[in-house]
Amino acid sequence: MSKADELREVMRTEGAAIAENTQAFNEGRYESVADLEDYEELKSEARAIKEDAIERLPELLDELTETVEENGGTVYLADDAEDANAYIRDVVDDREAERVVKSKSMTSEEIEVNDALKADDVDVVETDLGEWVLQVADEAPSHIVAPAIHKSREAIAELFNEVFDPEEPLETAQELTHFAREKLGEQIVDAEVGITGANFLAADTGTMALVTSEGNARKTVAATDTQITVAGVEKIVPSVGDLDPFIELIGRSGTGQDITSYVSLLTPPVDTPVVDFEDDETPLSEFDSDREFHLVLIDNGRMAMREDDQLRETLYCIRCSACSNSCANFQSVGGHAFGGETYSGGIATGWEAGIEGLDVAEEFNDLCTGCTRCVNACPVEIDIPWINTVVRDRINREGERPADWLVDGLVPDEEDEGAPLQKRFFGNFETVAKLGSTTAPLSNWLADTSASRWAMSWALDIDPRRDLPTFERETLVEWAGKRDSTVSDPERRAVLYLDLYTNHVQVDRGKAAVRALEALGVDVVVPEAPSSGRAPLSQGMVATAQDHAERVVDSLSPHVEDGRDIVVVEPSDHALFQREYEKLLDSAAFTDLAENSYEVLEYVYGLLDNGADGSALTTAEGDEIAYHSHCQQRTLGLEAHTVAVLEECGYNVVTSDVECCGMAGSFGYKGDYYEVSMDVGDRLRGQLQAEGVRDRPVVASGTSCLEQIDSLLERQPRHPVELLVD
Ligand code: SF4
Repeated sequence: MSKADELREVMRTEGAAIAENTQAFNEGRYESVADLEDYEELKSEARAIKEDAIERLPELLDELTETVEENGGTVYLADDAEDANAYIRDVVDDREAERVVKSKSMTSEEIEVNDALKADDVDVVETDLGEWVLQVADEAPSHIVAPAIHKSREAIAELFNEVFDPEEPLETAQELTHFAREKLGEQIVDAEVGITGANFLAADTGTMALVTSEGNARKTVAATDTQITVAGVEKIVPSVGDLDPFIELIGRSGTGQDITSYVSLLTPPVDTPVVDFEDDETPLSEFDSDREFHLVLIDNGRMAMREDDQLRETLYCIRCSACSNSCANFQSVGGHAFGGETYSGGIATGWEAGIEGLDVAEEFNDLCTGCTRCVNACPVEIDIPWINTVVRDRINREGERPADWLVDGLVPDEEDEGAPLQKRFFGNFETVAKLGSTTAPLSNWLADTSASRWAMSWALDIDPRRDLPTFERETLVEWAGKRDSTVSDPERRAVLYLDLYTNHVQVDRGKAAVRALEALGVDVVVPEAPSSGRAPLSQGMVATAQDHAERVVDSLSPHVEDGRDIVVVEPSDHALFQREYEKLLDSAAFTDLAENSYEVLEYVYGLLDNGADGSALTTAEGDEIAYHSHCQQRTLGLEAHTVAVLEECGYNVVTSDVECCGMAGSFGYKGDYYEVSMDVGDRLRGQLQAEGVRDRPVVASGTSCLEQIDSLLERQPRHPVELLVD
């Protein structure tokens, strides 16, 4: 089955339930964190604790081992899954257990302990409702927090009715959960061994924190006399006191709950008596509490990740699922498509690359478009898109592609190995754009012939359903070079940095930007400059992107030294200057560029705020418009500036709140992903076609958004700056 077929099938069968549930979690997160006055401080505190814990991990491992052993437990550090399973099987065998009950644990999924125990004829029962549903259905989890998120209530009712044949068919959520609770209760009382995971382990006391929405983890611990906790080594934090910010953030970030239903701090072996449920005569206090506790800490690649400068950040992850829920693509396809052996969502690339290997990460890595909507959502401030980019780069370099000999030397990139032809094409869009403009309109005609479309589909997997960009013969730089500034006594001086689309395709928005800035008293120059590197970076071509970044700095620095501000039209290029260039440039060069660059409407906002005369701009009288801001613009907190400028100019603005339009640069052009892109776009279409919005002209800040909206709607969108100088 092709990748496109796989994705279509998962969207058809699971898409509706995934979209409904993930979007509800995501909205819940926005609402819940809004109540926290110190949200950003809490995130930074949590981040600092994880950074410190991973830095001191060997020392904390020793400390935790000591405290657990002092408490009466045993610690086993397992090198890998096989090692961990061998130890667990021995414990279960010594206990002569016939049944093991488990509460949800991603790490035990990772080591596939169920299969290992079943090989010894041990009955393993999942007690988390979602995990149990999947065990009954014989399916894999599709979400790291809500494993059965892809199943609707109706589907679960159908499953239970078919498998268990209850006297009265089950239908409502209440009936289903009541039935599950009864069934699981019977299994738990008969079990000899309980396996749990741990959200956090405090080295100073040996305390484990379990953050759950059901009481099954407590039951698993209390009802069995032998407890095995399976946790990755990265779960260790220095002290119980360090748990505070995590407990505050984890539920809010993941499911939008201010606090999860159960937060259990257990310091095993616990003192609760081990009750014989057959014996209803003996008072509880007379049962003994002779319990065994085994802490199985899993390395399985984590210590190597700790030594890896790029993957290390993955170990800070607290598995809250915010990155999945905020991801537009995940909302469409879920973890069965956007996930590996165990982990799913944006951060899964880091986990799967570190634990399973690049070949597993490669299966789903391209579903991350680098939109960055997960960045602000992550409670430990992990740069998830960067991890995806780095892993994509490694995957490119590992690959051996038959067309390497053809491409190497023909394209001006810095990739000396492996990137697939399609990625090399999109990563070198600068060359394509220059050629397109130089030979327009012939290039546009030629590209649109059926023979060209077929060839592009065959060789590059460019989806024929997408319209191709139409290149302008006269670039914006050429247009600007032929005119004189209209500002004789400038208030400020700026250099307009042009992305490829503004220079070669959507030239009108560039002209509008120049005119708007001049209207506000800014002297503007529009020099030829290297493209930003956004295109190669999105394909995982990091060396090429770095080369672009260095050339961009060389080209813009003289203007900054000359006292000019850098104004950027394309939000994704501006985001590069503000975020990713930090990874590609030396610190001084990055800071200089970042501190002196502004997204164009942010700049206009600043000018107006500092007294520029707004009457020189076109004004409206309550004209109604709909606005969709770019995902990276939102991540940088710049959506409000555009809205404020438009309102100041007299527009009545309605804004969309979908996380992403779905186009995401080259993503929507790729045959494998076209339908996912359109499915994501459907949410934006829904908002822009809603009652009261459908007649409004649409404006959007990003190139990709403009292209996608053009495909989704009858009405052609424009860049907001074009409204300022009509
Ligand atoms: S990467 Fe961040 S947002 Fe994603 S699951 Fe981990 S902690 Fe949560």
